[in-house]
Order: sequence, then structure tokens, then C-alpha cells
Amino acid sequence: MKKIIITIDGYSSCGKSTLAKHLARELNYVFVDSGAMYRAVTLYFLNNNINWNDTEEVVVALKNITLAFEYNYEKGTSDMIMNGTNVESPIRGMAINDKVSEVAAIKEVREFTVAQQQRNSIEKGIVMDGRDIGTVVFPQAELKIFLTADPEKRVERRYNQLLHTGVQVDREAIRKNLEMRDYKDTHREISPLRKAKDAVVLDNTDLTAKEQLELVLGWAKEKISS
Ligand code: C5P
Repeated sequence: MKKIIITIDGYSSCGKSTLAKHLARELNYVFVDSGAMYRAVTLYFLNNNINWNDTEEVVVALKNITLAFEYNYEKGTSDMIMNGTNVESPIRGMAINDKVSEVAAIKEVREFTVAQQQRNSIEKGIVMDGRDIGTVVFPQAELKIFLTADPEKRVERRYNQLLHTGVQVDREAIRKNLEMRDYKDTHREISPLRKAKDAVVLDNTDLTAKEQLELVLGWAKEKISS
């Protein structure tokens, strides 16, 4: 059967990764959470006191970073592994949320991550979520989704997600962080968050995860059989 590339871009906390993960499981595709890669690079920079305004320092630091995903198909998880260590938990904390959009705006960082993301496409059969996947990483993708949701709903989702992982943050801090990241992600010079011309907009404010999955699965199956 034909295999396709599916891209899911959109604002922070719209449920991109959840949708991507569920789609990949249904289609037996590979799921790549590109945001986890920017988060891991940010963690490395913070842990190693890298001054990311210094290009030379950034270039040297990137040479020391190896990123990989560890999939557990039974549990439906994909964990970020940096330099052999599982960093899935620390990359989700507020310290990273506060700095990741700054780090993700750096040209050298994006070149590093995008090259690795594109290597994934050789085999097709991939679902990748992020901010520039349909516009820059896979402009040739057969199905592109641009996900959006009501800002209050997004705050609530992120709040519950953090609670679930044992992190206690107040809603106002989350709201500010989402607004700040969306602003930075849409206004940066390199690969800003944009809807690709051929992307389908999906507002999931009033959809359950299951309803959303069924809708997009239908679109994917149409593309696969065309
Ligand atoms: O998707 P997630 O919220 O984990 O992404 C964290 C941050 O990584 C985003 O706010 C954005 O700054 C950056 N990012 C990006 N390009 C991507 C994915 C994420 O710039 N493709």
C-alpha cells in the first residue's frame, strides 16, 4: 500500500502531538515530535551554560548533541533520548518552555534539527508535528494539517498535561508562556509558524481526541488510496 507523509503544524498546546501519535499508531507509521528536538537542544544549552547568542559556541555545542527517539509501541510513547539519556521528563518543564522558542529561532539550531527530521522521510510512512513541517521540512507532504484551538482550551489542556506529569504551575503562567511562544514562533525570521498554502485548517476546540482522529484518518486514507 502507498505510504505518505503527514504533517501537523500549529500553535502551542493545540494537541498536535496527541493527534500525530494516534494517527501513527492507526496507520502503523513512524511518529516524530519535532518540538522534542528543540526542547532537548535547549536543555543541553541550559545544562552546559551555552551562550546561544554566540554562534561559534552554538556550533561547537551542536556537534556534541546526539538526538534519538525511543518508541514503546505498546505504551504508545516516544521518548526523547539525548546523548544516550532519556530526557523526556526534564524537557517538558517550565524552564524549557520559557527558553525553547528563543533557541528554536537560531539558524544553526534549525539546520541541525531539520537535517535530522528530513532523514526520517526516506522511507515515508511518517507523521511529524511541529511549526514548520508542512512549509519547510516536508513541503512535498501529501497531507498537511494546520491545527488550531481556542486559547482558553489550550491553557486548560497544557495545565492538565503538566499536572499529569506531576508539575504544579498556575494557569496564568501557562497562558503567558503560550502567548509568548506563539508570538516568537510566528514572528521569527527563519521558518516562522505559518499555515502551508495546501494545508487543511482543523479547529479542534469542540472535538474529542477520538472525533478528531476519525476525521483526519478519513483524510489520510483518501490520500493513501488516491
Ligand atoms: O511542539 P512543542 O510545543 O513541544 O515545541 C516547543 C517549541 O519548539 C515551540 O514553541 C517552537 O519554538 C519550537 N519548534 C519549532 N519548530 C518545530 C517544532 C517546535 O520551532 N518544528
